Amino acid sequence: MKEKGICMVISAPSGSGKSTLCRRLLAACPDMEFSVSFTSREPRPNEINGKDYHFISRENFQCRIERGEFVEWTENFGEFYGTSGKVLQDLLQSGKDLLLDIEPRGASQVKNQLQEVVLVFVLPPSLDELLRRLQRRGHETPEAIQKRFDRAESELKEVLWYDYAVINEDLDAAAKQLTAIYQAEKCRTNRLLGMIRRLYPTMKKEA
Ligand code: ADP
Ligand code: 5GP
Repeated sequence: MKEKGICMVISAPSGSGKSTLCRRLLAACPDMEFSVSFTSREPRPNEINGKDYHFISRENFQCRIERGEFVEWTENFGEFYGTSGKVLQDLLQSGKDLLLDIEPRGASQVKNQLQEVVLVFVLPPSLDELLRRLQRRGHETPEAIQKRFDRAESELKEVLWYDYAVINEDLDAAAKQLTAIYQAEKCRTNRLLGMIRRLYPTMKKEA
């Protein structure tokens, strides 16, 4: 029987480089899969339905909330975002490791509902640099950029209840740290107990 997969949640103020880091992690770790959220927001250029998000209408999202389909959901910048509970549980049970790119309110709901979650918070090296990155990305209006920047300061405080913090100053270094966190989590004794017992069947249960 396969071990249950790791549920790794990553949060960061918008513009910190979280999506860039997630792409790096997924490219480096073939056992890990991106958890595709549902959202009511419009797709951005280059975003693919079913790969980046499941893009659905607000009405469709509301129906799914009423049916209790989401393990977590939130309204963020006026749009709905949520994670399907069934898809998440099915993938974890099948042994897949999952990466959830979700904001802190959703992360806290996942933490309360799943027994084991690995919570990682990505911080920009400074607020000035965060603003530069938001502007450089260039796919939002100045008003949308300002909204995201205004939210950042309060969102940064959420780092205090996460398991790990990665400061994304140098991209390569931050990507290595994120991969190291995942690899260390894969080596936790309690995750490997099944495999250890299979390798050493004579080992006493209480050992
Ligand atoms: P988020 O997903 O957190 O909103 P993105 O991954 O879209 O952020 O990154 C925002 C911008 O910052 C992008 O233009 C990205 O290329 C850039 N970026 C990401 N990490 C770094 C870094 N360490 N140094 C400089 N620029 C970065
Ligand atoms: P964006 O619109 O830039 O893709 O995402 C905005 C914010 O929504 C990001 O902080 C992202 O992590 C968060 N987000 C994306 N999907 C989900 C989700 O399913 N649930 C929650 N709670 N937040 C999400």
